[in-house]
Amino acid sequence: MTDRYAVIGNPIAHSRSPDIHAQFAAQTGQQIRYERLLAPLDGFVAAVDAFRTAGGRGLNVTVPFKLQACDYADRLSPRAQAAGAVNTLVFGSDGVEGDNTDGVGMVRDIAGRHQTVLDGLRVLLVGAGGAARGVLLPLLQAGVAAVLIVNRTPDKARALALASADSRVTGCGFDELGKAGRFDLLVNATSAGLDDAAPPLPTSCYANARLAYDMVYGARPTPFMQIARSQGCAMSCDGLGMLVEQAAESFRIWRGVMPETEPVYQQLRQTLVAG
Ligand code: NDP
Repeated sequence: MTDRYAVIGNPIAHSRSPDIHAQFAAQTGQQIRYERLLAPLDGFVAAVDAFRTAGGRGLNVTVPFKLQACDYADRLSPRAQAAGAVNTLVFGSDGVEGDNTDGVGMVRDIAGRHQTVLDGLRVLLVGAGGAARGVLLPLLQAGVAAVLIVNRTPDKARALALASADSRVTGCGFDELGKAGRFDLLVNATSAGLDDAAPPLPTSCYANARLAYDMVYGARPTPFMQIARSQGCAMSCDGLGMLVEQAAESFRIWRGVMPETEPVYQQLRQTLVAG
């Protein structure tokens, strides 16, 4: 029987995950079926239960269910535990395993596709929601020198820094950034780009950075990328590579084989640009 997987969320029609996993499966000769699963906002657990009962082997989890997926899992990987959020569920005979592949996806995209060595970098992490939580531990494990988390709600940034229990991490609000010094890497983990806006960073933050990385992606450079370029940041990119890399890590967890990401990334980029 063909093994079944899906991405669960609400809304879900926009998800590119079925296309990505179909390409991974074709490339690696794996027999899988991968669907979109729309769960009612108050019906995550029932939808997951029904998918498992019907023989489902694993799920990707997206907005707004990543925290509920954390509670659903019987066991959590260290990176899911650190993130407090799960984007990958594995249904095994010995229970449900929860993992989070978002952070490792971003780190691989930065280090591989964008050729930026993370070791020793000073990072400004903008945002303190689920995505920021997911990338914090992988950034620290990659050897960054410091991470300043800045958020619209400053207390959330400070709480996230405290919870990391790592002296390299601090948190603040946007109005405290003026005296924060220079950064090598800027990561936009806010959802501001979805409203075609950039987070309110002082322009001085961009000038000396090697890379401005926006987790949001689209057909055109995001507002954050555009400001970064105009303020002299050496390189800027969107989160399409992160999307493909986090999917590849989920595929590896489920199928035990790592697919090649570059052809899938290139195909998606062409599709986006073509509209
Ligand atoms: P959350 O809703 O958990 O967090 C949103 C964050 O954005 C909060 O820190 C919030 O601040 C901040 N924010 C929202 N609007 C603004 C604004 N106008 N100005 C400044 N800050 C703002 O979302 P996630 O963390 O799950 O996702 C964040 C983004 O990352 C989304 O756009 C998502 O699409 C993207 N993403 C991309 C992935 C990829 O593979 N490329 C993977 C995962 C996420 P406050 O706390 O004050 O509300």
